[in-house]
Amino acid sequence: MIRGIVVSETGVELKELDEAFLGDGDVVVDVVYSDLNYKDALAVTGKPGVVRTLPLVAGIDLVGRVVESGDPRWQAGDWIVQNGAGLSETKNGGFATRARLDAKLAVGVPDGLSPESVAALGTAGYTAALSVLRIVSEGVLPSDGPVLVTGATGGVGSIATMLLATAGFDVHASTGRVDRFGDYLQSLGATEVVPRSDLEGRGKPLQKAQYAGVVDSVGGEVLANAIARTLPNGTVTACGLAGSIALPSTVMPFILRGVTLAGIDSVWAPLEDRADAWRLLAKGIDVDQLDLMTSRVTLDEVIAAGQQLLDGERHGRTLVTIG
Ligand code: NDP
Repeated sequence: MIRGIVVSETGVELKELDEAFLGDGDVVVDVVYSDLNYKDALAVTGKPGVVRTLPLVAGIDLVGRVVESGDPRWQAGDWIVQNGAGLSETKNGGFATRARLDAKLAVGVPDGLSPESVAALGTAGYTAALSVLRIVSEGVLPSDGPVLVTGATGGVGSIATMLLATAGFDVHASTGRVDRFGDYLQSLGATEVVPRSDLEGRGKPLQKAQYAGVVDSVGGEVLANAIARTLPNGTVTACGLAGSIALPSTVMPFILRGVTLAGIDSVWAPLEDRADAWRLLAKGIDVDQLDLMTSRVTLDEVIAAGQQLLDGERHGRTLVTIG
């Protein structure tokens, strides 16, 4: 029996599915784990903007074992991870016990990480890794100055904090929940915890330059102020909109300080970038710490957990046990 969380015109429900519902694709996977990202929370609570084809199984990530494959890269028994690539947008996603997919953008579970850890990291971890790789490839070095991480208690922010600290960067972690999670952020390696309110409000186009790099998952005024505080030739990566889709900025930091604003798209990142990101995660993640920041839910609990994530009642990562 296949079970899955289906988003349809009439709502979102966990139900039984037949093989035909799984759709097209030359690789069949028994899904063992998935995870809950911000986009998943929107999808399973019926918010618009993520799922674009109805009805569809939600879940932007899946980790599982190949059952059948027409793709020469994969054999029955292989553990694979698929992040994004249309899952839960136009293709059935990971919140089902079985998936049929085009696995050209899938990667194998990397050496050094268990399938469970890979799912606990999920798109949030992989996006954090893409962001860190971009900052490094733009030439930012730990000796250039601190790196600011916004939305730091969230999935992207927590993993970015950990990866940057492991790579030797001085990490300043910004959060709207300093009282509850200041210690947590320091345990991940942040050297300073910055209240989100310091980055809110309309700031001047150029402010005191202090950050060599920024990993932003919040957008809006927080991103605009972070850009205005970036050091000459620094790099700001923007991946998220947890606060706002707006960018109330000016060109001044770009033309007077040579700041780079780099967009991060995890959904359609090429295979080489995915493999690099997962290699970085395998090297830079302390799995015991990942375990401490991960809470676990079953497929039956995903819809309620999605609402909790939107209500600010979750932090770190949420692993979903499927199989
Ligand atoms: P989480 O919900 O785990 O974390 C988001 C964090 O943002 C929260 O923990 C909170 O951090 C902060 N936040 C929440 N609401 C607000 C608000 N109203 N104003 C300012 N800050 C807020 O989400 P993820 O880490 O999974 O994702 C973060 C963002 O990145 C999302 O917008 C997501 O869609 C996007 N994303 C984009 C990807 C891409 O490919 N471009 C891939 C993955 C994620 P705190 O309390 O510490 O301030």
